[in-house]
Amino acid sequence: MSIKSNIEYIEELKAKACEQSGRSADDVLLVAVTKLHSPEEMNEAIDAGITDIGENKVQEILDKYDKVKPVRWHLIGHLQTNKVKYIIDKVSMIHSVDSLKLAKEIDKRAGQHGINMDILIQVNSAMEDSKFGITTEETGRLIQEISQQCPNVTIKGLMCIAPYAEDPNEIRGYFAEVKQLYDEYKDCGLDRVDFEYLSMGMTHDFQVAILEGSNLIRVGTAIFGYRDYRSEEK
Ligand SMILES: *Cc1c(COP(=O)(O)O)cnc(C)c1O
Repeated sequence: MSIKSNIEYIEELKAKACEQSGRSADDVLLVAVTKLHSPEEMNEAIDAGITDIGENKVQEILDKYDKVKPVRWHLIGHLQTNKVKYIIDKVSMIHSVDSLKLAKEIDKRAGQHGINMDILIQVNSAMEDSKFGITTEETGRLIQEISQQCPNVTIKGLMCIAPYAEDPNEIRGYFAEVKQLYDEYKDCGLDRVDFEYLSMGMTHDFQVAILEGSNLIRVGTAIFGYRDYRSEEK
């Protein structure tokens, strides 16, 4: 299967899930996750209509940035504070903000460049014991602190990575919990809180995520095939 036909297939499934949840297919943004895939493959996806790509490592963005056609870049992986400066003028949204310290560094670097940076708060619902993301209880406080202390940042919504389940239906409750949190803060009226994106759903679970209210899905494997992690060891 070609990258183009894979994208067409994902778009079809996406449209079906949107229809099932009473929304139009345009309501859900497809971000193609290109980690460990080449600039050539990325350009093929862009030629097939992809407008947004996601990478989870700063170094990969830097390595590929000049070789890829114009597209919106999303940083979707864990971001170390000391690396913010390398990508601040390259990405259009950072999905993985889970601390005030990180938000303040993003704010500082955005200010230096005279830009605003859109961010998502990475939440981790109570069901999972993961290294990254904050609990639902902490989310409200972090949103408030960023709103007050980071004038060059706009909080555009929430992001989550669901725990793996053989049957994605088992994690519907997880997505529902994050959607509830999203709705809770959507109209909170705080400065620079302008919710537009609920980033949830990957290859394995994006249809269920859409049914539970996601409007941004991050899909890699279903578009580009399996990633060869061995090449990372070089
Ligand atoms: C790799 C990755 C994805 C895409 O995963 P697939 O299962 O290949 O679709 C989505 N989100 C994040 C944060 C990732 O690191």
